[in-house]
Amino acid sequence: LTITVDGLAKLLGVQNSHLMRKMANIGMDKLANDYLLTNEEAAEIALEYEVVPIIPDSTGPELYPRKIPEDMSVHPLRPPVVTIMGHVDHGKTTLLDTLRNSSITAGEAGGITQHIGAFSVQLKSGQAITFLDTPGHAAFSAMRARGANATDIVVLVVAADDGVMPQTKEAIQHALDADVPIIVAINKCDKHGVDPSRIKDELLKYGIQTEDLGGDIQAVEISALKGTGVEELSESIVTLAEILDLRAEVDIPAQGTVIESQIERGRGNVASVLIKRGTLKVGDIIVAGTAWCKVRSMADDRGNSVKEAGPASAVEIMGWKEIPKAGDMVLQAENEGQAKSVVDSRVEKRKNKDKLAAVAAMNVQRRETHERDVNERFDERALRKAVWEYHNGLRDSYPEPPAPKAAHSKDGGKAAADAAAGTQPLPVVPVVIKGDVSGTVEAVASALKQLPDKKIKVNVISTGVGSVSESDVVLAGSGSQGVIVAFNVKADKRTQAVAKREKVEIMSFRVIYKLLEDVEKLLVSRLEPIR
Ligand code: GDP
Repeated sequence: LTITVDGLAKLLGVQNSHLMRKMANIGMDKLANDYLLTNEEAAEIALEYEVVPIIPDSTGPELYPRKIPEDMSVHPLRPPVVTIMGHVDHGKTTLLDTLRNSSITAGEAGGITQHIGAFSVQLKSGQAITFLDTPGHAAFSAMRARGANATDIVVLVVAADDGVMPQTKEAIQHALDADVPIIVAINKCDKHGVDPSRIKDELLKYGIQTEDLGGDIQAVEISALKGTGVEELSESIVTLAEILDLRAEVDIPAQGTVIESQIERGRGNVASVLIKRGTLKVGDIIVAGTAWCKVRSMADDRGNSVKEAGPASAVEIMGWKEIPKAGDMVLQAENEGQAKSVVDSRVEKRKNKDKLAAVAAMNVQRRETHERDVNERFDERALRKAVWEYHNGLRDSYPEPPAPKAAHSKDGGKAAADAAAGTQPLPVVPVVIKGDVSGTVEAVASALKQLPDKKIKVNVISTGVGSVSESDVVLAGSGSQGVIVAFNVKADKRTQAVAKREKVEIMSFRVIYKLLEDVEKLLVSRLEPIR
């Protein structure tokens, strides 16, 4: 699939001469109407016109989720999947612990609780609830947002002694955005002098109208620490679940979501999956993103090995050839051959997408360099003219170097104005992110992308789970000034040596909440001497 310069101009609805000027601007020299552009070249030019080109997907094999049947009433009810959200220190972790223990003391057989990203609670009434226990800190809002999508119900924890706080509002927003119903848990009601009704009044301002105040949102007063009200909370969840009439097909191939994944010593690649529909059995073949797995074994949140997992249950799955990413959809394949060819075709598609992203990033850089060159040439000419004028008595002061002109700038003179104000166009820093857990890597990546464009722009070029490798270094070093952000993972001596040689900085972090701040600071400080 190729196109001529002429053809592309028609497609974009611009004049050939205009298109060729653009081409010249980004440093292309094949300036003829009948020149056949490659896919990449055409994409690059289209991006100049802010048209995002679609490189045709290789129509390789793909897996699709089954259609949801119109009549769900014939399928059995399934447990609700619940995410607990709320401001830091309002008691999310304490509540999760209390809930987890409540199930064990209810006479449940089995081992010690394992953290697999979710756990199931059995109520005395025989009903079950699945709780996702994603970490609750602000930097994880990305994962939480996704958590909300895998979620039927959000339990919003609000500490009675603190009230509605920024992350409370954020949680409300997430739930509303994802159209997930909320149950309010007013926590720390054991504390002296707290007034739960004040919290309900406050929540009203944010659109949360509790039953007491004439709305339909349940609010339960609890003490996560003492356990009071927690049973009532569970009952509220079950009541809401009944209204939602949550059902799933049981006897179809499994479909689910990766909630966590990591490499574990002695166990290989491990991923926790929340099954949404169907039943997954040991020996089944599944695909998630570009990873596939013949299910070698499965374990539940007590570490018990299980042979089957049905709707709304979370299981840890062993046997992945590669590590899947948190948030990836899990679908069952018919056999290994199908799984492999689906993965191959997805890898191919991703390569195309990456190529396009790389082209776009390169384009930005190239355009900035070009603008600088034009400005410099412009300045140089003006300067020479002024010097000539001085020597010929046409002006009485020796020229100051003129300020950069805005005329040639494509951004309406903003870059030049910035330059005149003593600031440069934002440097773009290519970043490779590595971490021990896929969910964390995703959260870090999306948080870094959201760093305010103050002094630097971060371009995340690659993310992955596992220690920092030489290929990461090469990747980070291929652009200018690349850095590697390593969260809870290390780089061996050899990789460190390569990094030193390639002048790639590896920034290691162990604590999530300092990471963003430090990365920003480090990137900025690192760039200063260059400017
Ligand atoms: P998270 O940041 O939302 O996960 O909050 P934590 O569960 O870590 O709780 C923060 C602090 O509040 C801890 O010191 C808990 O012991 C305390 N806490 C949590 N729930 C209660 C409660 O119901 N009553 C009281 N008095 N303290 C609580």
